[in-house]
Amino acid sequence: MNAHQAPSPKAMIVGRTPVHPGEVSFYCEDVEGYVAVAGMSARCPCGCGAERFFWFGADADPDWGWNGNDTEPSLHREIGFPSCTTGWRGRLTHGRWLPRRTRRT
Ligand SMILES: [Zn+2]
Repeated sequence: MNAHQAPSPKAMIVGRTPVHPGEVSFYCEDVEGYVAVAGMSARCPCGCGAERFFWFGADADPDWGWNGNDTEPSLHREIGFPSCTTGWRGRLTHGRWLPRRTRRT
């Protein structure tokens, strides 16, 4: 594994609309009498304020490949936030946002 220099913000799980950078909130649906996680909302970890929703499961297009862990979530796909002003891209792995590359100044 690569030793990244960049900090990896923790994904804070919140029970409301995520507000702060890196916060995530799970969205549950009632499916035939039981409650299932259908997706996740996240606030971009870079601090730009962008929010994106990620759907999970066989009906999702795409299925972001949640690992099923609601305290240290991972998504199998690389993540970008379309309205992000800094172009942040990376992964959510075991509850941490790992940037694909460090921004050079
Ligand atoms: Zn951003």
